[in-house]
Amino acid sequence: MLTFPSPSIRHYKDVADYREHFVRQDQIDRYLPGGKHFIDDAKILADLATAAALPKNDPARVRDILAKSRTLNTLLPEETAYLLQVDDPALLEEMERAALEIKHSVYDNRVVMFAPLYISNLCVNRCRYCGFRCDNPQERRRMLTMDEIKQEIDILAGKIGHKRLIAVYGEHPLTSTDYFAETIQTIYARQVKSPKGTNVGIRRVNVNAAPLPVEDLRVLHEVGIGTFQVFQETYHRATYERLHPQDTVKGNYDWRTTCFHRCMEAGVDDVGLGVLFGLYDWQYEVMALLYHSRDLEKWFNIGPHTISFPRMQPASGTDIPQKSPYIFDDATFRRIVIVTRLSVPYTGMIITCRESPATRDASVNWGVTQMDASSNIAIKGYSDFAHESHQEMDIQQFMLADNRTLEGLICDFAKRGIITSFCTAGYRCGRTGGCIMDALKTGKEGKFCKVNAVLTFREWLDDFASPEALKLCTPVIESELAAIQKWLPRFWPTVKEHYDRICNGERDLFF
Ligand code: SAM
Ligand code: SF4
Repeated sequence: MLTFPSPSIRHYKDVADYREHFVRQDQIDRYLPGGKHFIDDAKILADLATAAALPKNDPARVRDILAKSRTLNTLLPEETAYLLQVDDPALLEEMERAALEIKHSVYDNRVVMFAPLYISNLCVNRCRYCGFRCDNPQERRRMLTMDEIKQEIDILAGKIGHKRLIAVYGEHPLTSTDYFAETIQTIYARQVKSPKGTNVGIRRVNVNAAPLPVEDLRVLHEVGIGTFQVFQETYHRATYERLHPQDTVKGNYDWRTTCFHRCMEAGVDDVGLGVLFGLYDWQYEVMALLYHSRDLEKWFNIGPHTISFPRMQPASGTDIPQKSPYIFDDATFRRIVIVTRLSVPYTGMIITCRESPATRDASVNWGVTQMDASSNIAIKGYSDFAHESHQEMDIQQFMLADNRTLEGLICDFAKRGIITSFCTAGYRCGRTGGCIMDALKTGKEGKFCKVNAVLTFREWLDDFASPEALKLCTPVIESELAAIQKWLPRFWPTVKEHYDRICNGERDLFF
C-alpha cells in the first residue's frame, strides 16, 4: 500500500468540513498583489471596444500582427483584440496559413496522441453544465480501485497502444491527493504485453483535476505528473459565480484562477489552460486566456504548456449545453483556435473528441498539436466496453462526437502526410517549464520532436497496426526519415542507429 502525505485533505472529517477549510486564502492573495486581479473585466471590455472602433479587416494592420506572431512572442492584448474582429474570408485564410506556418516552425508536422482516463466521478460541486455534479441523481457514481486502473491500462496501453494519458477526477475528499498519487503510480507501474509481445506501458500521465494547494501539488510533482490541467470554464466572474454555486469549493473564482501560479511554486511547471466554450462570450474568453498566459509569463517567465478548447456538449440532467445564449457555430470556433495560435504562438493546443471528425481534421491546419482517440469517458469505460465505441449518458460526464479509433485517426492523418507522435520524452529529459519554453521558441524542441515522433510512431506501427494501416503509414515514416537525414545530417547516424534498434524490437529509446 502506497502512502503519501496529503497535507491539505487528510484531516477533513467530512464533505462539509472539506468545503469550509480546503481553500487557502494566503495562497490566493500572494498572486493578486494589492487585491488586483490579472483578469480585469473593465480592461478586457475596453480592449475589445477599442479594437472594434478601428477600421475593420485592415490587411496592413493584420499583417503587422502576423509578423509579430511569427517571432513566436506572445501578442499584446490590443493585437489579439484586433485579430478577434477580423471576419473577412480572405484575411481569415491568411491568418490560418500563418497559424499553420507557426505551428510547423515550433512543433513540426505532427500531432501528439493521448487518451483520457476517467478515474472518479465523485464530486462535491454543482457546476450547472456538468453531468458529474453532486445534485444529479441520474449519474451512477464510482471511483476506480487500483485493480480496476490496471484493467483500464491493459486496454489503453496493451490493446490500443496509447503511451500518454490525461487522468481525470471529480472533486471529493475521498479522492484526495493521496488517491491521485496512488492512481498515478499504479498507472506508471503497469507494464503489459502488446499484441506482438513487446513490453508496453503508459509513459506520461497528465492530470485534469480541481485546483489544489501548493503542498498537494508538490506531491503530484514527486510522483511525476506531466501537465496539470485546470479549465477555467469561464473567466467572466459574474457568469462563473452564477454557474458555480457559491457554497461549493469550485464557486471560488480566485482559487481557480491562481491555481497555475501555485503549480509553478510547487515545481509543476507544465500547466494546461482551457475555457469551456459556450458559457460566455467567446471574444472575452480568448482575451482572458491571453491575460492569464501573460500573467504567468510575468511571474515565472513560463507560459502555458497547453491551451485546450473544450466546447460544451450535452450532459445528463442539464439543459445548459443546449440553451446557453453563448453557443456559437463552427466558423467561429475556427476563428477562436486560429487567433489563439497567433496570440500564444509557442503553446501546445488540444482539441478533444468532444468535436466532430470534420472539425478535428480541419483543426490541424489551425495550429492544433494534440488530440485524443479511441476515447471512452465512462468510469471503467475501456475495460467494460473493450474499447469499442460505446457511450452512455448516465456514466459519463458529457457525450463525445468523434468516435474514431486510434488506428482510424492515424490513418486519416497519414493520408494527409501528417505523422502521429507518441513522444513523451520532454518531461522525462527535464524539458519542461521554462526550459521547454526556450526550446520551443528557438525551434530546438521541434528537432527533438521530429525524431521522437518517428521513433514512437515506428513502435506503434510494429506493435499495434493492422497490415492495411502499416501499408498506408509507411510512406509517411519514410518521408520523415528522409527529412531528418537532410535536416540533421550530422545527427543522422545516431538517429538511424536508434531507429534500427526499434525495428529490431527494442523499446522506449528517445532524445
Ligand atoms: N472536476 C474537476 C474540475 O472541474 O476542474 C476536473 C475536471 S472535469 C471532470 C473536466 C472538465 O470537463 C471541466 O473542467 C469542464 O471544462 C469540462 N466539462 C464539464 N461539463 C462539460 C460538458 N457538458 N461538455 C463539455 N465539457 C464539460
Ligand atoms: Fe465536479 Fe468538475 Fe463536473 Fe464541476 S466540472 S461538477 S467540479 S466534475
